[in-house]
Amino acid sequence: MKVLMTAQSQTDPGKHYEIRESSGGQVYCMCPAWRFSQPLLKNGQEYKLPCKHLKALGYTELHRMEVPSWMFRRSK
Ligand SMILES: [Zn+2]
Repeated sequence: MKVLMTAQSQTDPGKHYEIRESSGGQVYCMCPAWRFSQPLLKNGQEYKLPCKHLKALGYTELHRMEVPSWMFRRSK
């Protein structure tokens, strides 16, 4: 895991969110807006559209951000 970028919260200047890349190449954001947004499902793969922080890194709605499995507890 490596940190690609650190973004300051606009609502709480004392908070920072890390945009990270996992060892598997998944890029994800630690901000609540992204973490708690509902993931979409396509071909059995959960993904999310990029948040504003990920967009700042150049990702657009055309990118489907894979959701790291550890990030969500889901009932199966
Ligand atoms: Zn974010």
